[in-house]
Amino acid sequence: MYAKRKKRKKHKKLTWQEVLLIIMVVILALLLIFSRGFRAARRVEHMDNGQDGVVLAGMPQGWFSTVPPPKQQMHLDGHLQWHGQHHHQALQDHMRHKDLHNKHITETRHAHTHPSGDGRLYTIHDRDMMDNASGFGDITTDMLLGRIDPESDEAGFEEISRKYANRKGMFLRREAMEAFTEMHAAAEKEGLQLVVLSATRTFSHQKRIWENKWQGVSLLHGGILATDIEDPVERSREILRFSAMPGTSRHHWGTDIDLNSLQNSYFEHGQGKLVYQWLKANASDYGFCQPYTAHGKRRTGGYEEERWHWSYKPLASDFYHAFAAQISYEDIDGFDGAETARAMRVIEDYVLDVNKDCF
Ligand SMILES: [Zn+2]
Repeated sequence: MYAKRKKRKKHKKLTWQEVLLIIMVVILALLLIFSRGFRAARRVEHMDNGQDGVVLAGMPQGWFSTVPPPKQQMHLDGHLQWHGQHHHQALQDHMRHKDLHNKHITETRHAHTHPSGDGRLYTIHDRDMMDNASGFGDITTDMLLGRIDPESDEAGFEEISRKYANRKGMFLRREAMEAFTEMHAAAEKEGLQLVVLSATRTFSHQKRIWENKWQGVSLLHGGILATDIEDPVERSREILRFSAMPGTSRHHWGTDIDLNSLQNSYFEHGQGKLVYQWLKANASDYGFCQPYTAHGKRRTGGYEEERWHWSYKPLASDFYHAFAAQISYEDIDGFDGAETARAMRVIEDYVLDVNKDCF
């Protein structure tokens, strides 16, 4: 009798365990479904709170977060809206966090391929990045850093005809070339000549330009020699007024051109002034924008004004956002003075601080 009651009790207890087990399985299933969505939302959140490591390393974190439900394009859209609405300081803060974020992605890429790394979460993370970055998912790190060969048939470049350029052997991405051809024809109708002085530059080309300045082989603007500046960061700052560090030039992207003269003063008088006025009024009709406008409310840092530098936005905008998402300071290396890149904040203050018409 006693044993029988005990047995029944045991049986009843087991039933409760089964019920509990079912409830727990249901809750776990619901949590798994929600956590997939929250993972995307967390990425947006950590960009602003700067706690990448914590958020990404802790899988369960965010399950009970108050972050609103995610949208498919949240990462990209947030980024785009962000640029449109916030002021410069916010850009700098954002990009500083973004740098941490990018650094983490770079590390996670290693984890991804490293057998001892915890690749699972990162694989999901990277895949989500690519999904959200749909527009520029095929822009590789090499393309962003200028480690390209524009002359190869597969690269998608076209040589610029002598009709449009001051010399042979310059290249643009095909789509940018087509747009430029149309813009050139329209300007010509107004009696204005657009002449390409520089277009796509590879990493090694930019390295040559940079190191010639760094080593005092060529003069800087204002006729000074970089070698007269002892402090490497200050030397870097002076060169960066008009020249990009290798790996960080928009000319790597195959979307940007320098027109007519590399002196702002040319665009203040006579034909140069007419050309500049025409470009400001009409270039956007052909997809072109001026990334380096005068410093002021819209752009407070980075390169000086460059009235000659024009960018084919439909492509360059994708490169811009891809650069922001994929490049970190570890990628900027392989030339004299590369160690000053971080101190000079070349990603935030130079690559990304451009006229907002260009992204
Ligand atoms: Zn340029």
